[in-house]
Amino acid sequence: MAKGLVVILTGASSVGKGRIRDLLLADPDLKLFFSISETTRPKKENEVDGKDYYFVSYKQFAESVKNHELLEYTEFNGYYYGTPKAQVEFLASKGKNVLIEVEAQGVGPIKLNIPDSLAFFVMPESREELEKQIAERYKDDEASVSRRINKAKMEMELAPLFRNVVTNTDGEAAFREIKAKILEEMELRKQKK
Ligand code: 5GP
Repeated sequence: MAKGLVVILTGASSVGKGRIRDLLLADPDLKLFFSISETTRPKKENEVDGKDYYFVSYKQFAESVKNHELLEYTEFNGYYYGTPKAQVEFLASKGKNVLIEVEAQGVGPIKLNIPDSLAFFVMPESREELEKQIAERYKDDEASVSRRINKAKMEMELAPLFRNVVTNTDGEAAFREIKAKILEEMELRKQKK
C-alpha cells in the first residue's frame, strides 16, 4: 500500500493557521487526518481532550520525551507541545494523509524523520498587521503580547527556508492555495507509483 502524504502547516504565531487548518481538515478532496499533539497547556473550554490535543501533565510529557515517543517537541509560552510519532507513522503507513500543525521550530525535526513531507509556512500580510492581531487577541495580557510579537518576528525569519510560503491575506484564499499544492503533490505521487 502507498504511504499517505504528511502535510505540515506552520507560520508565525497568531497568523491564522487555525482557520486554515480547519478548512483543510473539512475538505472532502484532501481527506486529511489531524495529528493530535500532546500538550501541558490547560484545556480551554471549547476544546476536547483527544480531539484538539492530548492534555497531559508535565510528568506524562517528560515520559513521552524520555521514551522517544515524540517526532519533535517545543516549549511555547510556558507550556510544552509535541507531535506523537506512533500516530503519524501509523496513519501514513495505512495510506492516510496526515496534517500536522506546529510552530515553526518543530518543522526541522519532522522533515528529518519524514523527508518527503510537504511543509507550508503561513506569512501575515505585513508585520504591522500581525502585531495588530496579536495585540487584539491577547489584549488582557501585556507581557504575553510582547513575548508573542518577539516570537513571531523570530519565526518569520525562518520563512526563507520554506519552499511553500503562503501569505494569509484572507483565510479562504490561503486555504485554496495550499489545497491546490497538496492535490498537485498527490497527483505527482500517483504518477510515480
Ligand atoms: P495553542 O496553545 O494556541 O493551541 O498553540 C500554540 C502554538 O503551538 C501554535 O503555534 C501551534 O501551532 C503550536 N503547536 C501545537 N502543537 C504543536 C506540536 O505538537 N509541536 C509544536 N512544535 N508546536 C505545536
